Amino acid sequence: MHHERVSENVYWFQSEVYAQVAAGVVAGPQWAIVIDTLALPEETLGIRDFVEHEVGVQVRYVINTHHHADHAWGNCFFPGATVIAHSLCRKLLEERGIPALENAKKLNPAFRQVKIVLPHLTFGEGGMSIRIGKKNLTLMPASGHSPDGIAALVEEDRVLFAGDAFMPLPYVVDGDADDIVSTIKKIGRMGLENIIQGHGDIILRGEIETAVRENLNYLTAIRKVAKTAARRKLPEDYLDENGVESCGKSRVYLGGLAEELHRRNLQALLREEWAEASKKK
Ligand SMILES: [Zn+2]
Repeated sequence: MHHERVSENVYWFQSEVYAQVAAGVVAGPQWAIVIDTLALPEETLGIRDFVEHEVGVQVRYVINTHHHADHAWGNCFFPGATVIAHSLCRKLLEERGIPALENAKKLNPAFRQVKIVLPHLTFGEGGMSIRIGKKNLTLMPASGHSPDGIAALVEEDRVLFAGDAFMPLPYVVDGDADDIVSTIKKIGRMGLENIIQGHGDIILRGEIETAVRENLNYLTAIRKVAKTAARRKLPEDYLDENGVESCGKSRVYLGGLAEELHRRNLQALLREEWAEASKKK
């Protein structure tokens, strides 16, 4: 697992085993906040170890940016902490996370020690704010990748933990393409120093404008491909012809998962186009 100091008392962690998923820590003088919990127990425990031994405090709060496994299944490794998330995250973790974990345990023994811990403290559209040391951490809805997505802003440092609403390749299969467009535009207007993406590397101030534009262009491109495919006799063939690179993104993103995720994006949007078309009939 890589880790890096982002600003004073703010740290970033990135998985070396799964899709470059990222997590964060904001530390105060007495306790710390963990933002997301990575994919595998050993990495989650690595974060806890870092906070307890390098920073020298205990984790009081764990924030889940959304309910997906690689962000929320490590809650159980912070037994004394209060877990905070969007109210929909609690609902989705309960409805989908619990059965998905049972399945995962059969496939991967590493998950046997995992237990879903549902968020204790939840909020809705209004967001919430936590004072930690001399900093304010503001939590706000950031949907699009999933309906329960939130982002966490370290106000004083202008560092945004964006969750999967911001990734090297926007992924909308469990979310909504229109929502993610408005979330990405909003992030682009926030005057940030860094964007900590849910997956991939930290985006620096000078790179934000380009990253925002490229993500919006990609979303426009896949919408167009899906619209055209929906009118074709062989829509799947048309999707095959429009790989991730032809939509402006590199196939090496996300530890090489980009092509696969892109393909699933196209299929999800194609299903949406068909649903729209059948409504009009
Ligand atoms: Zn993720």
